[in-house]
Amino acid sequence: MSAAPLLRQVFGFDGFRPGQEEIVTAVAEGQNVLAIMPTGGGKSLCYQLPALMRDGLTVVISPLIALMRDQVRALTEAGVAAAALTSGNTEDENAEVWRALSARELRLLYMAPERLASGATIPMLRRAGVQAIAVDEAHCVSQWGHDFRPDYLRVGELRAALGVPLAAFTATADAETRDEIVARLFGGDQPRVFLRGFDRPNIHLAFQPKDGPRAQILNFAQARRGQSGIVYCGTRAKTETLAGALNDSGLPSVAYHGGMEAEARRAVETRFQREDGLIVTATVAFGMGIDKPDIRWVAHADLPKSIEAYYQEIGRGGRDGAPAETLTLYGSDDVRLRRGQIDEGLAPPERKSADHARLNALLGLAEAATCRRVALLGYFGETAAPCGNCDICDNPPETFDGTEAAQKVLSAVLRTGQSYGAGHIIDVLTGNSTDRIRQRGHDQLPTFGVGRDIPKGQWQAIIRQMLGRDLLRPDPERHGGLAITAAAHAVLRGEERVTLRRDLISKARPAVVVRT
Ligand code: ADP
Ligand code: ZN
Repeated sequence: MSAAPLLRQVFGFDGFRPGQEEIVTAVAEGQNVLAIMPTGGGKSLCYQLPALMRDGLTVVISPLIALMRDQVRALTEAGVAAAALTSGNTEDENAEVWRALSARELRLLYMAPERLASGATIPMLRRAGVQAIAVDEAHCVSQWGHDFRPDYLRVGELRAALGVPLAAFTATADAETRDEIVARLFGGDQPRVFLRGFDRPNIHLAFQPKDGPRAQILNFAQARRGQSGIVYCGTRAKTETLAGALNDSGLPSVAYHGGMEAEARRAVETRFQREDGLIVTATVAFGMGIDKPDIRWVAHADLPKSIEAYYQEIGRGGRDGAPAETLTLYGSDDVRLRRGQIDEGLAPPERKSADHARLNALLGLAEAATCRRVALLGYFGETAAPCGNCDICDNPPETFDGTEAAQKVLSAVLRTGQSYGAGHIIDVLTGNSTDRIRQRGHDQLPTFGVGRDIPKGQWQAIIRQMLGRDLLRPDPERHGGLAITAAAHAVLRGEERVTLRRDLISKARPAVVVRT
């Protein structure tokens, strides 16, 4: 099976994280790979997904029993045949793993390196038809590092004995460690090394609230006449109408979506590859496998699903390293649509809550008060300095210290038991004595009316920015009632300040309505 449907169906992700796609492709092709990715960057997916793309078994060497157990549990829940051989297993558990191995039922087998010391292990793995080896925390093979695990030295023997490709992963990037990993795990064969930070500095980042969205897109495209670009749209119908509107204003455009015949889609792909200055208006179906280095701009006519999807889609621009422009529009309709899609989906509550958090992260990026690249890379675990290549760096918005306002919101959320939507919280803050407020006795709370001085629309804008900063999260277990996050405690205690954007508040444009 190919990567994209597995990514969605098994892992529930709607896009690759930075760097993942290239690594997945190389590992799935059976290349020897050394990948250096920041912690939290999503290394596991880079061997789990290829393991499902090919037949047979992948052995994963990992030093951490708790982590192995977590991963096996998550994979099993997702319907993947996975198991672990660790010192924590009972006899019965081990017997079951051995049985499943000889029946060739497993796709992923996690194993602590100590296991390799037993003479029975390698012959057993050979009989089990291992197709590939993945090594997590590969720096443990390095004597220079503080995590040296002598048993990791046996991984090289394992590879030699099985004669299968090996993919090694680590977050430790210094050159000595890298050389040692190559020497000890790959036995002198030079693996393909992926050492890429997440940043794509040539891509200019920009967001705008929807305000006559069709004209916003037409103007953006008009200013880039003659350049190849993609406009991502939220619906199939919009790809058609936008292509029409662009063509009408003399910009050659063609629509692309999953509802089209395969042949028609291929025709668009080929035309886009060959023709200069063509615009494709597309749903997310367009992009995987498009290998055009000189896409000069990417616009989003609608807000993407998540920060990962956003990164992946804008990342299609400027692969040649030359400047590329992006513009992402967002509005209340998008947020309602995306929230609805998450809530109505069949995913378990934890995943829904993670999906809401990913959407919040994107909203936070949309309404960022400081450099967007710093926020984007920060989400992926990388630190950066203000980039000078985003609309915020170009034109810093006016900000103000919103700590006190944020504290009022948080305390209203806490005092009402973290079970209400933004509308009710704003009623409490502004002292709006509705039936519901009186029935719940919320007019008796000390926070009742403490925010009378600020109009309702501005409270909405404040709460929206707080959602974006991940100070508040909708809790799917309580029908989307707002709950406070760990980060919010520091704000409540006055240890962290909250900087808010004034332009998004003073206009109180209902650009993005928080869920009520
Ligand atoms: P690492 O091992 O690199 O520290 P993990 O593999 O544990 O990172 O992944 C970190 C987090 O990122 C996990 O919660 C994982 O579910 C999430 N993640 C990984 N890949 C993706 C993706 N493509 N889209 C969304 N979330 C992802
Ligand atoms: Zn910037």
